[in-house]
Amino acid sequence: MKVFKFGGASVKDARAVRNVSDILKMFSGEKITVVISAMGKTTNKLEDIVKAYQNHDRKMFMAHVDDLYNFHSDIMGELFHERHYRIFNEIEDQFEILRKRIDQPFPDNYSFAYDQIVSMGEVISTHIVSSYLFENGLLAAWADARTLVRTDNQYQEAKVDWDKTATLISSRFKPLFDSNDIVITQGFVGHTPEGFTTTLGREGSDYTAAIFAYCCDSDSVTIWKDVPGMLNADPKWFDNTIKLDKISFKEAIELSYYGASVIHPKTVKPLQNKNIPLYVKSFIDPNAEGTVIQATTDYDHLVPSFIFKMDQILFSITTKDFSFIVEENLSDIFSRLSNANAKINLMQNSALSFSILLDHGKVEPEKILQLFSDTYAVKYNEGLELVTIRHYDQATIDRVTEGKEIILEQKTRQTARIIIKNK
Ligand code: ASP
Ligand code: MG
Repeated sequence: MKVFKFGGASVKDARAVRNVSDILKMFSGEKITVVISAMGKTTNKLEDIVKAYQNHDRKMFMAHVDDLYNFHSDIMGELFHERHYRIFNEIEDQFEILRKRIDQPFPDNYSFAYDQIVSMGEVISTHIVSSYLFENGLLAAWADARTLVRTDNQYQEAKVDWDKTATLISSRFKPLFDSNDIVITQGFVGHTPEGFTTTLGREGSDYTAAIFAYCCDSDSVTIWKDVPGMLNADPKWFDNTIKLDKISFKEAIELSYYGASVIHPKTVKPLQNKNIPLYVKSFIDPNAEGTVIQATTDYDHLVPSFIFKMDQILFSITTKDFSFIVEENLSDIFSRLSNANAKINLMQNSALSFSILLDHGKVEPEKILQLFSDTYAVKYNEGLELVTIRHYDQATIDRVTEGKEIILEQKTRQTARIIIKNK
């Protein structure tokens, strides 16, 4: 069995849904698990709906729900020519459940409320896609990932219980292939032992594909995207990007750790553990080669990869009495940062200072200053970029630092990380 994952962009309108069906037809006769995300920007819209609900803003809530309803209804109108099809009632029902929420008090736990509502995007998209496939003669079963993926109750960032999930998938999911070639299910969602819906974190559908592949010992996973594969840099920041044809699981994990955003960071490890190859392919050009992520590391060094993080802010933390920064300070600094939920992109220590680089968009500099003001003096430098180069050489470093001021540089054998500032 193969696992295919189609993300939001690959089901963002009627044409895209037809394209999914065309791709599946290319694989007729094969057993395929199809993991699907919410359509287009639905998840963002559902987040707005949760906020309006939390603010008891009925008007805003209804306006967002209507937008989302119209978005899906337009897609269905293009896909299904007869308005009496069951799918219309099915989706009406989902939206009725959603509308009724505003009459209930907002739950004490925000993340719990978030998961119950935001998970609906995937439920709706999978209903629409499977009905469309059915209309086109592709028999596809619909499976509810909310009952198959078991997690803890850390809503919004739920952790998978692999043993329970493997048991559930074996007993309730695998048998569906006895009478179906295609089984459609939702990315991003799971459930607690008590049966409440959870989500796995934004962009978690790739991870869902890996969970099903791992539990079913699949032959491969394919993530269908609007790019030709994994590129050696984000085309937004870089001209002349090169596609990586073949890289190792290890390299893919490194790249996603440093911030390459093509695949969700948790996706690769389960596939590596079972040696299941991961293909990243273009849904626009499905016959093209794409990228394969697999065990051998032989090809990793062939092409340098560049990962850019923009709008960075570097904090330098020193003790007020100019004493050395020692283990005790470090442990104190980390626990303050961890309590403040700060995500460190890079760090460096010297005798008298400890420096951390954070995303400016995620921190208020003033808050960080306050966090340390009792014991430490903190300075910061903003408007920085962090460039990570895997498999670098001097020419690649020169290329990205040309005309820029180098603020800090760290090198290991494979990886160079450079903080730069525009002059
Ligand atoms: N729909 C979810 C999101 O947009 C999950 C996913 O697309 O992977 O984050
Ligand atoms: Mg997505």
